[in-house]
Amino acid sequence: MNKVLSKAQPAINVVWLKRDLRLSDHQPLASAVESGLTLLFYVFEPCLVNDPHYDLRHWRFVWQSIQDLNRQLARFNTQVYLFYGDTQAGLESIQQQFNIKQLFSHEETGLLVTFKRDKQIKAWCQRQQVQWHETPTGAVVRAKKDRQGWDTQWRKVINGEFASPRLSEQDLLTNDQIAALPQASLPNTWLIPDPLMLTGGEQWAHKILNSFLAGRGKDYHFNIGKPLASRKSCSRLSPYLAWGNISLKQCYQAILQKRPELGWKKPIDGLASRLHWHCHFIQKFESEHQMQWQHVNKAYHHLHYPEQHCGLSIETRLSRWKNAQTGYPLVDACMLCLIKTGYINFRMRAMLVSFLCHHLLVDWRLGVTYLARLFLDFEPGIHYPQFQMQSGVTGTNTIRVYNPVKQSQEKDPDGEFIKQWLPQLSEIPKEIIHTPWVLSPMEQQLYQFVIGDTYPEPMVDIEETGKIARDLLWGFRQRLDTRQEGKRIVAKHVRKRRSTSSMSKQSNA
Ligand SMILES: Cc1cc2nc3c(=O)[nH]c(=O)nc-3n(C[C@H](O)[C@H](O)[C@H](O)COP(=O)(O)OP(=O)(O)OC[C@H]3O[C@@H](n4cnc5c(N)ncnc54)[C@H](O)[C@@H]3O)c2cc1C
Repeated sequence: MNKVLSKAQPAINVVWLKRDLRLSDHQPLASAVESGLTLLFYVFEPCLVNDPHYDLRHWRFVWQSIQDLNRQLARFNTQVYLFYGDTQAGLESIQQQFNIKQLFSHEETGLLVTFKRDKQIKAWCQRQQVQWHETPTGAVVRAKKDRQGWDTQWRKVINGEFASPRLSEQDLLTNDQIAALPQASLPNTWLIPDPLMLTGGEQWAHKILNSFLAGRGKDYHFNIGKPLASRKSCSRLSPYLAWGNISLKQCYQAILQKRPELGWKKPIDGLASRLHWHCHFIQKFESEHQMQWQHVNKAYHHLHYPEQHCGLSIETRLSRWKNAQTGYPLVDACMLCLIKTGYINFRMRAMLVSFLCHHLLVDWRLGVTYLARLFLDFEPGIHYPQFQMQSGVTGTNTIRVYNPVKQSQEKDPDGEFIKQWLPQLSEIPKEIIHTPWVLSPMEQQLYQFVIGDTYPEPMVDIEETGKIARDLLWGFRQRLDTRQEGKRIVAKHVRKRRSTSSMSKQSNA
């Protein structure tokens, strides 16, 4: 239906907020207010709210982020207009009372569901003669076919000037005008904070970044692999970057500016290279979005994941992994920690995927949405390429079959992290906590713990399953079709020449 214009309807610009919930360094907002009266708009879309990748924790974080924006916007007598429903329906409800002239947003490298929605909105804008201006997110280039010139572009973007919106009351719709639009009613559970999870919002993003630079990050490079110490030493910026409470450019420039004063070469360089990986992985997904449902290396379509493995069905294997019942303390502690707090460090994420896909021989596609739901920082463009890489189906990366006992002894030697999440093991001496099944019945009594009762027996023998997985995956790696596909992947996703020293090994195909 084409809009019927009335002279009484004021012409406005709409800034459609998605994963860019901030007011600073925001090009769409800056451009909108430059060119007319502006409304900030966020849609809670049922297609995402009900999608298996998302959970209450995400919508709570988004809600907190919007509350934070509204606190900042209050002095301009405006707020974000919230709509619960399809984006098109939201735009139509605005269109009932205003004449939308232009729509401004960031480009989104998302799931298939958001790609389809964007196509729908593009068609709607054309029908309604609304100009839609999209700004790239970070250094990700839309529909790029290879990495020619990508690093130069990355450096240009990341070192560029901030887009600072010049907000003023006369350029923004008033609270009264917004109150006249249909109002969203949100589930109460979204509004209740969870003290175990990070709080969303632009102001929190900057507080977290500043606390990292004020001392927290000094031992970043030492502690990055440890499940407990990483919680303090890592930047913890991931949910803020994923939901756009802070831009990558803001993080990157802030840490490099502080580098000479702090003298922290390793922590700052380590973090800078990870900020580069952030875009590198999203670019991969942008260029190869079928990764959401198929192996990036098509030769792995022939890889067969057995129905029965070690006498256990796929359902049992998956369910025991999801419910922290594997019998391997570090694996179960990581899963419980994720369920409760929405965060675990990189190495432990990799180990969780390796346990599922290697030791339990479960197809990554059966576990990928489950972890997305648990990660407060779920970012499709990082999650999918990382998941595939860690499950060993790219044919280009080193295959890492993690031994969870060895990881436990190395990364949590005193068992502090394990004891925090599995209190039933708290009496066991640190030397044995990684392998509680070795205790005799008498020792178990002494440590108030019964294997198979208060804590499960190991569900598989990792020496055996590790060997099966290595033989299977390395065997696949030698196949001609795997190698041919590997060459295609490298040609598409790897830059020919490495140009900065901070780009480390992981940043490959
Ligand atoms: C299976 C798997 C799934 C993952 N899914 C996600 C996800 O959905 N969202 C997400 O943000 N990260 C994901 N990661 C990457 C990484 O684990 C997290 O970014 C990191 O643990 C977040 O903690 P931090 O902010 O303290 O990281 P820091 O080490 O402080 O790094 C700072 C930022 O750099 C980026 N970064 C760090 N490590 C990586 C990496 N290996 N690849 C790409 N970017 C990186 C992130 O934006 C991160 O916030 C995944 C890793 C694995 C193995």
